[in-house]
Amino acid sequence: MSKVSIVGAGNVGSTLALRLLQANLCDVVLLDVVAGKPQGLSLDLSQAEAIARWRIHGTNDYRDTADSDVVVIAAGVARKPNMTREQLLQINSEIVRSAVPQILSVSPSAILLVVTNPLDAITYLTCQVSQLPRERVLGMAGVLDSARFASFIAEALAVSPQDVRAMVIGSHNDLMLPLPRYSSVSGVPIQELLSHEAIAAIVQRTRQGGAEIVKLLQTGSAFFAPSQSAMVMLEAILRDQTRLLPASVCLQGEYGLRDLCLGVPILLNKSGIKRIVQLHLTEEEISQLHIAAQSVRPNTLPA
Ligand code: NAD
Repeated sequence: MSKVSIVGAGNVGSTLALRLLQANLCDVVLLDVVAGKPQGLSLDLSQAEAIARWRIHGTNDYRDTADSDVVVIAAGVARKPNMTREQLLQINSEIVRSAVPQILSVSPSAILLVVTNPLDAITYLTCQVSQLPRERVLGMAGVLDSARFASFIAEALAVSPQDVRAMVIGSHNDLMLPLPRYSSVSGVPIQELLSHEAIAAIVQRTRQGGAEIVKLLQTGSAFFAPSQSAMVMLEAILRDQTRLLPASVCLQGEYGLRDLCLGVPILLNKSGIKRIVQLHLTEEEISQLHIAAQSVRPNTLPA
């Protein structure tokens, strides 16, 4: 059985643990800085899923995460209404700076999957602090933003979301790039099904998709869809599926960008990033991608 450790047993981390156990995908270690929290959650999870106690372990000690195949970093503060993801940078980067060396000291071969916001900056920080080959550091945002885009397309057309394939690349903020040209309903391009105005409205709602939920919840941010998106990526890694999914990765010249993390399509399998896929973007799309890149650059802290 593979082993996945989740650092940060909050809403995203604990819901992800439940999903992993329900899919019988791996053994799970839940780690948190709060004493008792991961232990209590793991007890609850084992009872909910009739899972053997050794398959889900709650801890405050990184030694229990030893020999993980993948470590998910979901520790930190989540957004409150009227906060941008960027405002989380200071506190969350300190958490990640301290967590990454502790993770790698006991799991030197692990793939790191970052969830903590602001996603692209924290993923880049993780690359820098870990010094791992870039194939082994990924940020989850594109799968989530694409799921939101797909859900709004399905709603506008009154079709099943199951038939919608959508692609969002770029930054995990208001400047993200939903790509109508690469989005379809069972292969039918959405431009053939929706007006230009309707697509523009959906693109705008997608960019605000996280904020819409934060505003409604008032006390935190989304976690059901985020944990499902992390689950999709973990399944691609642990089942060696070689899926084409958007993820935040360290760019070294692709799309004319380097030394930052940004969402682009990749092939994802057991070795992590098998390949970065280069889309044939229009001039307009490339220029929007570069604007999105600028928005994450100032947040890109040196290690
Ligand atoms: P949450 O507040 O429910 O949970 C965060 C957990 O992290 C808490 O249990 C807290 O005790 C723990 N924590 C804090 N400092 C820690 C440390 N030093 N070591 C270990 N654990 C520590 O938040 P959440 O809703 O689970 O969100 C977690 C993070 O994921 C946030 O930064 C949020 O913005 C981000 N997020 C990202 C996406 C995405 O698309 N990438 C989506 C949703 C949430």
